[in-house]
Amino acid sequence: VQRLVVKIGTSSLIHANGKINLQAIDQLSYTLTGLVNEGKQVILVSSGAIGVGMGQLGLAKRPTKIQEQQALASIGQSELMTVYQQRFAVYGQKISQVLLTHDVLDFPKSKEHVHHTMEQLLKWGVIPVVNENDTVAVDELDHYTKFGDNDQLSAIVATRSNADLLVMLSDIDGFYTKNPNKYADAQLVDVLHEITKDSLKRAGGAGTELGTGGMTTKLKAAQSILDADKMMVLANGVNPSIIFKIMNNEPIGTLFI
Ligand code: ADP
Repeated sequence: VQRLVVKIGTSSLIHANGKINLQAIDQLSYTLTGLVNEGKQVILVSSGAIGVGMGQLGLAKRPTKIQEQQALASIGQSELMTVYQQRFAVYGQKISQVLLTHDVLDFPKSKEHVHHTMEQLLKWGVIPVVNENDTVAVDELDHYTKFGDNDQLSAIVATRSNADLLVMLSDIDGFYTKNPNKYADAQLVDVLHEITKDSLKRAGGAGTELGTGGMTTKLKAAQSILDADKMMVLANGVNPSIIFKIMNNEPIGTLFI
């Protein structure tokens, strides 16, 4: 693996009480910097803007009004980038912010510009931190409320940038035969070669209060990765240094290949 995309979900970045999980962010910064120092090219897709915004304003529940969510994303995104900037700087790693909307990637011209910009950043050894531009992406945000998070975006970024691997970090060890938060007999699936109707059925409903997607959007992301003949690993983001083990080909989480 030479080029990888790492997606981290809201549930891994924010504690249940709404505070930023500094340990996770610090470990993520340390790990991704370590990989860049080994000569890898790394793109980070980070969720969490709305959650961080909620924390800033002391809101316990995600508001239902779109304009409130977008305003929270605007507050949270800059705070989140500030935290990333500080933590990555400790390890001497440069990062950048890339905010995308679906239309940008649908138009050939802007898509090409994004592509060239990303290539330039990677060439310079910078880690682009990608998120959806939530203050403009109305439909996306709406869709977001229903399925949640940047799972699809990370798959698009991974396939468009021709990355060898997408590492998706969540609040769960991997994909299980059924929702492990509901069924005690759920079993971890080590490897999955295709996403069938049956696997989608096992993905069940949404996850946490802060994280919104649940498994469905992750399986859809895995589907696009498999279609592009690339790999995805779904693993627990509680300790992001787990990425070192994944890069060492240790059996971690669920491997989609
Ligand atoms: P993130 O914020 O990291 O994107 P989500 O909370 O949106 O994460 O999604 C992960 C959640 O999906 C898990 O915590 C779990 O409750 C739920 N889930 C539903 N079905 C499954 C399954 N078959 N395997 C694993 N997790 C599942």
